[in-house]
Amino acid sequence: MRTLLSAALIASLAVTTTEQTRPGAGATRTATTAQADGKTIELFTLRNASGVEVQAISLGATITSWKVPDRSGQLGDIVLGFDTAERYLKGDSPYFGAVVGRYGNRIAKAQFNLDGKAFPLAANDGVNHLHGGKRGFDKVVWDGSIVKDGRGPTVAFRRVSPDGEEGYPGTLEVRVTYTLTDKGELIVEYEAKSDKPTVVNLTQHSYFNLSAGAAADVLGHELRLNADRYTPVDATLIPTGELAPVEGTPFDFRKATAIGARIKNEHPQMQFGRGYDHNWVLARSTPDLVLAAEVLEPTSGRTLTVHTTEPGIQFYSGNFLDGKLAGKGGRAYGQRAGFCLETQHFPDSPNQERFPSTTLRPGEVYRSRTVFTTGAR
Ligand code: BGC
Repeated sequence: MRTLLSAALIASLAVTTTEQTRPGAGATRTATTAQADGKTIELFTLRNASGVEVQAISLGATITSWKVPDRSGQLGDIVLGFDTAERYLKGDSPYFGAVVGRYGNRIAKAQFNLDGKAFPLAANDGVNHLHGGKRGFDKVVWDGSIVKDGRGPTVAFRRVSPDGEEGYPGTLEVRVTYTLTDKGELIVEYEAKSDKPTVVNLTQHSYFNLSAGAAADVLGHELRLNADRYTPVDATLIPTGELAPVEGTPFDFRKATAIGARIKNEHPQMQFGRGYDHNWVLARSTPDLVLAAEVLEPTSGRTLTVHTTEPGIQFYSGNFLDGKLAGKGGRAYGQRAGFCLETQHFPDSPNQERFPSTTLRPGEVYRSRTVFTTGAR
């Protein structure tokens, strides 16, 4: 009997290019049916030799699926998101899986000063600026390509952010790469250059649920954060400037603790973000990669470890998810259906002189690296 291929399938096969780096592992590139900014949104799939598969679309350089075996070898998708590229275009995604920029996290009163000049930005979070503004890096189509990298299948996303975009000075050339290794690492590397002094803070905004949909929330996940201080915030989630000890507070994750164990604590900081929505100051002894976070989902045995070159990590416990968004398979994502671990410079750094600087000047190269390692035990 002959196998009949539908016209749509043939069309989609025709635009698929495959690069096999080793048996079982490789990268593929496929056109989706979605278009934006006059471009077709493309889907990239990275696979390693042990069956881990990461998919990303060129809209927002967004990770749309991340399949990882549990302790019995059962593959499950550990990130929240939508089934189709079209659905991401609706504009209501709470940054599911996207690269956020030009400045990830908040800038107070949507303004900063650089070299004596004030730069007003879009206020898209009350009076503050959040995740790059109204049309941040998550909402634009990047140019994606499969690139050769000895460490594993790699996709590179590039874009040029024009001078003045969302109020930021300088034309910024940006490149983000995702490399999947056979050790289960997803290496995320960022690079940027500007022709004028500007500020940059790029991060990855995946929402994880390591149960792969088996648990409706992430409260049972056990988290460890390699940090003995955090940056407390005001009621609008802008840092007060203090680096406060975690000791004796619900922010102490130096020993693995269930996310839900203290989430209803009366600590005033926990009221501001309706749970965890804070930046931790990573314990750092080298400018290179350091351990930032370790997570275990006890039922499936899946684990996630995060290393980074960044000084901070925002742990956001998905507090603002409210069940109104129907995600993959029509599933309603309720409060705390996923959590984010956003490696970054501290929020509002452009206005906080004592925080590590986020200024990028012409002739300098912004470089940042984060490694997410998945496993099971
Ligand atoms: C922020 C949250 C915000 C979320 C966007 C996180 O990075 O810390 O406050 O609500 O992004 O949905």
